[in-house]
Amino acid sequence: MITGTFLGTGGSRGPNGLINGDLDITNPLNRRTSPAFFLDIDGFKILIDCGPEVAFQMERCNLQEGIDLALLTHDHGDHSDGLRFLHAVFDHFNGENPIPIYYDQFFDLRIKAKFPFLFTKEECPDLPFSISEYYGALASMPSLDAIKAPIQIKARRVKHGAEFSLAYRFGDKLLYISDVSELTDEDVVALQGAHTVIIDGNGFETAHGHMSIPDVVKIIQRLNPQMAFLTHLSQKVDYSDAMAYLQDHSRNIPILPAYDGLQIQFGEEKPVFNLSHDPYTGDLRTLALARRNSISR
Ligand SMILES: [Zn+2]
Ligand SMILES: [Zn+2]
Repeated sequence: MITGTFLGTGGSRGPNGLINGDLDITNPLNRRTSPAFFLDIDGFKILIDCGPEVAFQMERCNLQEGIDLALLTHDHGDHSDGLRFLHAVFDHFNGENPIPIYYDQFFDLRIKAKFPFLFTKEECPDLPFSISEYYGALASMPSLDAIKAPIQIKARRVKHGAEFSLAYRFGDKLLYISDVSELTDEDVVALQGAHTVIIDGNGFETAHGHMSIPDVVKIIQRLNPQMAFLTHLSQKVDYSDAMAYLQDHSRNIPILPAYDGLQIQFGEEKPVFNLSHDPYTGDLRTLALARRNSISR
């Protein structure tokens, strides 16, 4: 059984409940935290990205059984600032077991400069435990091949403004592309084949480092999954507006805007989208199911 949980679906401007632009934040679907996803593959638990609310996000989604692996897409704050808090998750859930963290070597110096205390004992000599031992595994791993996971994980650099982020593909089940400003033909060919695509839906207009939602919809058609979800929805994206747009433009591939707490399940042969529940706003299930059913395949 593979289950995915959207821990956070917001953009880089912080929790949308606080900095919400013109959004109607009485709609809980518009209240978003930093983008992160949690994948449970037969008990092997993977955290994708680690924004500043990570410990809160895991707690509110009742994900209390630890992490076997953390994958970062890139080092921007909305994706990595929670590394400083991951030790709380680590303490609480993983005990003595360190959490391997994978990210591109390109980000290594910057992440280590941002969180020297996670990597260098000398930075925090007064702390009562040995940081270097404690965080021994908090280093970028040389290769995804070194990770023993129950599904093949592949990473590919995709353009994100002047730099890049990593897209992660999990066998034929899931392709997760967070911040992306362009996918080349080569990217599309290399990344095709996953039943489910979760991709950057930052805004209706192109922003620095991000495609527009209309362009993302075209990319989804080319990636040709059975279903897709938009995440990384900025403070300018109203959930209802996004849903209405996607209903008009999804064509034969259902595309839904994700929301914080949304869970999906991945079947063996094909994806089973049991848009189960939001653990903290249970009434969203009915809403999501009604909206899904109104999308024709
Ligand atoms: Zn971002
Ligand atoms: Zn970014």
